[in-house]
Amino acid sequence: MINPLLDFSGLPSFDRITPAHVAPAVTQLLDENRRLLETLRSTTVAPTWENFVQPLEDANERLSRAWGQVSHLNAVVNSPALREAYNANLPKVTQYYAALSQDQILFEKFKRLHAAHDFSSLSPAQQRVIVHELRDFRLGGAALSPTEKERFLDIQEQLASLSAKFEDNVLDATNDFAWYVNNVTELTGVPADVVQAAREAAEQDGKPGWKLTLRAPSYLPVMQYADHRPLRETIYRAYATRASEFGPSAWDNTPLIRQILALRQEAAHLLGFANYAEVSLASKMAETPRQVLDFLDELAAKGRSYARKDLADLTNFARDTLGLPEIAAWDIAYVSEKLRQQRYAFSEQEIKQYLPETVVLPGMFQLVTTLYGLSIAPVSAPGWHPDVRCYQITDREGTPLGWFYLDLYARENKRGGAWMDDAIGRRRRGDDLQMPVAYLNCNFSAPVGGKPALFTHDEVITLFHEFGHGLHHLLTQVDVLGVSGINGVEWDAVELPSQFMENFCWEWAVLHPMTRHVDSGEPLPRALFDRLLAAKNFQSGMQLVRQLEFSLFDMRLHADYDPTGTQSPLQLLDIIRDQVAVIFPPAYHRFPNNFSHIFAGGYGAGYYSYKWAEVLSADAYSLFEENGVLNAETGHRFWSEVLSVGGSRPALESFTRFRGRAPVIDALLRHHGMT
Ligand SMILES: [Zn+2]
Repeated sequence: MINPLLDFSGLPSFDRITPAHVAPAVTQLLDENRRLLETLRSTTVAPTWENFVQPLEDANERLSRAWGQVSHLNAVVNSPALREAYNANLPKVTQYYAALSQDQILFEKFKRLHAAHDFSSLSPAQQRVIVHELRDFRLGGAALSPTEKERFLDIQEQLASLSAKFEDNVLDATNDFAWYVNNVTELTGVPADVVQAAREAAEQDGKPGWKLTLRAPSYLPVMQYADHRPLRETIYRAYATRASEFGPSAWDNTPLIRQILALRQEAAHLLGFANYAEVSLASKMAETPRQVLDFLDELAAKGRSYARKDLADLTNFARDTLGLPEIAAWDIAYVSEKLRQQRYAFSEQEIKQYLPETVVLPGMFQLVTTLYGLSIAPVSAPGWHPDVRCYQITDREGTPLGWFYLDLYARENKRGGAWMDDAIGRRRRGDDLQMPVAYLNCNFSAPVGGKPALFTHDEVITLFHEFGHGLHHLLTQVDVLGVSGINGVEWDAVELPSQFMENFCWEWAVLHPMTRHVDSGEPLPRALFDRLLAAKNFQSGMQLVRQLEFSLFDMRLHADYDPTGTQSPLQLLDIIRDQVAVIFPPAYHRFPNNFSHIFAGGYGAGYYSYKWAEVLSADAYSLFEENGVLNAETGHRFWSEVLSVGGSRPALESFTRFRGRAPVIDALLRHHGMT
């Protein structure tokens, strides 16, 4: 019987894949691919799209589809056997891609293709794939001399292990901390379920009292609700000093930060760039570090007065209502929550009763019908868990455009958070048109007591966000795999379609039809919606400058900071705070030591992308605000100019074609109540 991971005939056979299939599939695919690479390398025939790019694409697509299924399953149904199979095969796959991106001969062949006289007869999408390949070979070190290549590879390997170590240190330091409360009055104000969980955690350790930890379900409610101020201070300090010199030296990230920055800088210099920020921006929409810094500075100049006002409101409220003469860092979340409750007088729990999944999902699908004239219907397909569903999107004529899986509920052995991933990309080979497939994953509460699952408004926003990524991948009309759907889209523009979708969750015309009280059957009352809307921009000024502080710190670290110099990263952060922040944490705070996004994730010199893409998404949405949010003509234009084109042209061009002009920052400021 055929290994299901090697069956590329249709939707994945999730009902048949077992951990035992992983190693044989990976081995076979890597062998086949290496043989093909050898053939492509050795042939003397001039490279063409058909004899060179396409077979290479075929081979890499098979590998990425098979491995994509494995890593998807590893994220959503992580069993010990699967994790072992995944970890055992990951280095083989990583090595294959690293060697490929340094392959001088293949690089030369792409250069020949690019220089050939018939390059211009290729489609714009094909041309763009080749241009991207040349860029990625350069960034992968293919143009370096043999000794440089060796050093470059060495740097890549060191960076990979330092990043993994950074993340492990944060995790270990977080998990290691425990604080036992022996007097329950110290937990006054903390929600009962959190207190109960703390009691059970202490019991499991065979200790009296209540056990608090630094993990989110314990840390956040304590900071937000615990009336006992010294307790908040203790927990805050522990959290703020994780993976630093204040804890075990084995978990101290301080030396790792400079090592990572120095290695990135060295790699950048080898590749011929002035700094790592330039390397990072080479594949992004923003052109230079200066441009990003100016963008962030401009936002800061606009946002800081609002942030000051937010802080003043908070300080006054703390003094007048809570009798706190001064706000410390460990009071911010606590006082904020009290102020929010007083000002807007509703709870997330109250809204949630109006948002059952059985009404929200059809409501979200209806939006796609209204805007784009498409239909979404469930289809039967093998999933990886009984709760997983598969849907088909069809156009007006009933022609399928793609499929997506929906895995909504939190489970043991499922990675946290919400994310979209591509399973199959749209691609044409001769008469055969392969349609795209996506996974949408969330971690919402499953249904209980025979009632449908209920979503908070935040969860509905998350669902719309991931669905937006999904539509970007599924509604593509590009036939060339490398730039269809989300492929080849600049990193700092990828959040455009997803953040765009979030806006609809704040529209009465969209939200109202997707509400029905789980018991009474009544739709959401207008008065409650108005309070929800009024609270939308609560403290948005303070949130904005915080994001800007992180973004500026990240960009400056990678653009003009000397990791071997006398200035510490913490000193640079202080300078940036003086420029943009309104809240100044205590001197012991070690934010850089926990900034995994940039030291362990893929966000190095890229943290600004969130705000960058939000300018685009807010400004794109403003055309809907002008023309009517449910205007099908505007919807169709958004589809054809933004969603359909994938990475086949620069994101800026797609935006400008849709909006009729270059992006401006006004809509973002207005959506945050800053006008
Ligand atoms: Zn996203």
